Amino acid sequence: MSDFGSSNPCTWCDGCGNYGIWTAVKRALAELKIPPHGVLLCYDVGCHGNMSDKLSGYRFHGLHGRVIPFASGAKLANPRIPVIAHGGDGACFSEGIGHLVHAIRSNYPITFILHNNANYGLTTGQASSLTWQGQPMNTSPNSIPEATLPSMDFVFSLNPTFVARGFSGNIPQMVEILKAAVQHRGFAFVDMLQACPTYNKFATHNWLLEHVYDVAEGKHDTSDFANARAIAIDTSERISTGVLYQNMDAPSFYERLKPRENIKTVPTEEVAKVDVGEFMKEMV
Ligand code: SF4
Repeated sequence: MSDFGSSNPCTWCDGCGNYGIWTAVKRALAELKIPPHGVLLCYDVGCHGNMSDKLSGYRFHGLHGRVIPFASGAKLANPRIPVIAHGGDGACFSEGIGHLVHAIRSNYPITFILHNNANYGLTTGQASSLTWQGQPMNTSPNSIPEATLPSMDFVFSLNPTFVARGFSGNIPQMVEILKAAVQHRGFAFVDMLQACPTYNKFATHNWLLEHVYDVAEGKHDTSDFANARAIAIDTSERISTGVLYQNMDAPSFYERLKPRENIKTVPTEEVAKVDVGEFMKEMV
């Protein structure tokens, strides 16, 4: 894990769930024996994005709501390297929701970690589409009129191949979820319920602790789509966590690309042979 260390101090608030997710990512990669130079870590804009200089490895920190396109593009250019994309509920269920839709239906072979603190934390606690309806927030003290977007129902409606849910207070479980997600063949959607003690006063660390349960403790069949969808949606009394659904047979987007069939090299190797010197001279 120390290989992923950084001398940059963390700037998250005390008690922020990002500390747990940050630790779990490092531990999962270490247990998978993936070194910092063997992974690409991509970050959207948000409090979680401050992880980009606190975790070593190849990193790309891009525009708000756009982490999925550049993470997927990098993966398709070099499919040999695992790619983990981090995004918040604000960015990825509003500005970037179209990218999420097409990543799931395309089955791009990346891991997507949704830092789900149910608000825009970095910009001081505005309501996101996943903020619970009726909750007063910093810029909407009377709450917002919109209904909460049913995120899990929405994700399952797109026929995903991997859906998991973790909780920032349970590092061992997050590690197991992330290891399964990184090794998944296609798009792995990981909903991390993240405590935000500064702005989220409803789904607090203690509230989550009291409501989550691990599906691995029972007889859960991760190949049963209908049951996985049902327990993912029903959060009325308890919240299911763990790997909820996985289709191991569905080929990824890259595997379905006809022009790539029987080609042993990857696009980055093919591009590396091209001399762009003359072209660059014309540009300057
Ligand atoms: Fe964490 Fe919330 Fe503070 Fe952001 S505002 S660093 S999400 S506790």
